[in-house]
Amino acid sequence: MRQLILASRNAGKIQEFKRMLAEMASDIETLSLLDFPDLPDVEETGATLQENAELKAVQITSATGKPCLADDSGIFIDALNGDPGVFSARWSGVHGDDKANNAKVLEQIRALEANGHVDRAAQFRCVVALSFPISHPRHGEVLFVTGEMPGEIIDTPRGEHGFGYDPIFVPQGFQQTSAELSAEEKDRISHRGQAMRKILPLLTATL
Ligand code: IMP
Repeated sequence: MRQLILASRNAGKIQEFKRMLAEMASDIETLSLLDFPDLPDVEETGATLQENAELKAVQITSATGKPCLADDSGIFIDALNGDPGVFSARWSGVHGDDKANNAKVLEQIRALEANGHVDRAAQFRCVVALSFPISHPRHGEVLFVTGEMPGEIIDTPRGEHGFGYDPIFVPQGFQQTSAELSAEEKDRISHRGQAMRKILPLLTATL
């Protein structure tokens, strides 16, 4: 069976990738960094989602000798000039503390609103990178796809599904937050779902 490593330890993200890959390409066995507990974390020193996705894909391919799919993603809030952006996972100062990250964003938006600013528009964005091991004819190339989900930030978190900023984000055209959508509904409209549908033909052609 063809193997692919997801360059993530984020359980929410891994779950989304695994269920989409199981549906779209069931002949690909998908592992994640949770299966490689001894591998050190890749430092996300890039200034953009694309740079971080490339760093993760290339380093994990070289450490495992397997093709790697790396996503770097985040929420870009207009009123915060695009923040938290690439810093979304660690916006509160603690990596992966979703509650604290949401609380900090809400606090910042409320402070702006207290001064009369009411723009709550935001977008989730992701860049997905695919890299190949030395044994593969396409070694040295990195393929990229992107996805984006526009919407707005609400004031009170709602919903139990998803992860990260989902409880405070209502996708455009919906009443529910992305944490209130079913897994299938979120995959149909999400930044990650779009990127996966774009990368699928490349995955099946190259792996
Ligand atoms: P990364 O692992 O550095 O790419 O961090 C991505 C961060 O962006 C996550 O930890 C979440 O805080 C946020 N994020 C990305 N995608 C989503 C999503 O689909 N829902 C909610 N939050 C997300």
